[in-house]
Amino acid sequence: MAERHVHDHDSAEGLVPLEEARERVLSRIEPLPPIELPLTDAYGCVAAADIASAVDLPEFASSAMDGFAVRASDVVGATTEHPIELKVVGRSMIGQQPEATVGMGEAVAIATGAPIPAGADAVVPRENADDGDDGDLVRIVEAVGDGRHVRPRGEDVHEGDLLVPAGKRLSAGELGLLANAGVPHPLVHPRPRVIVLSTGDELVRPTETPHFGQVRDSNAYTLFGSLREAGAIPLLAGIVRDDPDSLKETVFSFEIQADAFVSSGGVSVGDRDVVKTAFFKRGDIDFYKVALQPGMPQGFGFIEGKPFFGLPGNPVSVFVSFEMFVRPAILKMMGRTSLDRPEVTATLTGEIGGPKDKSVFARVEVSRGPDGWTAAPTGGRGSNLLATVARANGLAFLPPGVDHAGAGERVRVRLFRSSED
Ligand code: AMP
Ligand code: MG
Repeated sequence: MAERHVHDHDSAEGLVPLEEARERVLSRIEPLPPIELPLTDAYGCVAAADIASAVDLPEFASSAMDGFAVRASDVVGATTEHPIELKVVGRSMIGQQPEATVGMGEAVAIATGAPIPAGADAVVPRENADDGDDGDLVRIVEAVGDGRHVRPRGEDVHEGDLLVPAGKRLSAGELGLLANAGVPHPLVHPRPRVIVLSTGDELVRPTETPHFGQVRDSNAYTLFGSLREAGAIPLLAGIVRDDPDSLKETVFSFEIQADAFVSSGGVSVGDRDVVKTAFFKRGDIDFYKVALQPGMPQGFGFIEGKPFFGLPGNPVSVFVSFEMFVRPAILKMMGRTSLDRPEVTATLTGEIGGPKDKSVFARVEVSRGPDGWTAAPTGGRGSNLLATVARANGLAFLPPGVDHAGAGERVRVRLFRSSED
């Protein structure tokens, strides 16, 4: 393409490299203090401590067959020609204590899954036993080895074994295991509750019809989706006008429910930089320019000890800065340790580009073909082209020093959703 863009010639000095900006944020984020949560709430959360089993699993030996619990030594040599007769002293049914123990020359009729009675060490399957009409006697027509058809106690887990190590995220398998082992309230890092604020005099809610010049608030919804996908609990605080006092009032009114705040808009160097005016205090909330396109102006700091992310207003910048700064921070708050999106190397099908002094992220649709991954730019270098985000599943990366890559060139792509959906 012949487009050679008039790049943003913001003075290179004062631009914070992306990695440094990310480090500034992440170095100050701590995992949320752990709490005990019911299993269904703990799903997707990270275990805050090693969880060991207080019990053997299964907790009792049980039968793998319908038949008779016996002593293997009693039925050595049993055949159809020479059956061995045992006295049936009771039954063992599912979910119940066996009616009797098994002594020498005795058997207990047992159902699959029922506990093995004391004294027995094997189960003779029903088809190898003949209890005729006389319920008190059974003729065993085939010997069984010690332990046959018995599911031993502790086969799955031994008392003291680690069920879930600290740092592991609870997914389907872990939830089932913890339930089975009687750990209904594991200690986990909770999901952060994140207050989402949209700033701007021009904004209206998506349910309203904008007057000429007004814009429907999209950032709140982009952030809602991104937060949910990261595992956080978003809370939309609505639209705040470009007035520092009302912004402060809104932020502090939500403070009690918040683990973190994310705002959009009002962080650039314009005269309506409402977030900056309301909250700038060096060391508390800092505002800086990141060598990142899109997503250059950023604010980050703490309000009452809670992280505050002041993202730029442009919808695409919101999406990209969330990916760069907020998502890894949310994951860290949840106790996650791998904070990065999966990355692939893909062959471009069209040109991407941006300012040479910045880390550039271009929206692409990645797909896997017979010759590996390809990345098709979804179009647009601008920051307000939300449709280019909606069509994309990855962000292709041009490091500082590289201002474009053409069709056929290989680039690294961060995947933000799987290509199948
Ligand atoms: P600002 O950073 O506040 O100057 O906003 C930059 C651009 O993003 C302007 O064109 C805004 O109208 C737009 N913008 C800001 N906030 C939102 C929002 N919540 N939803 C959609 N567009 C927005
Ligand atoms: Mg604004």
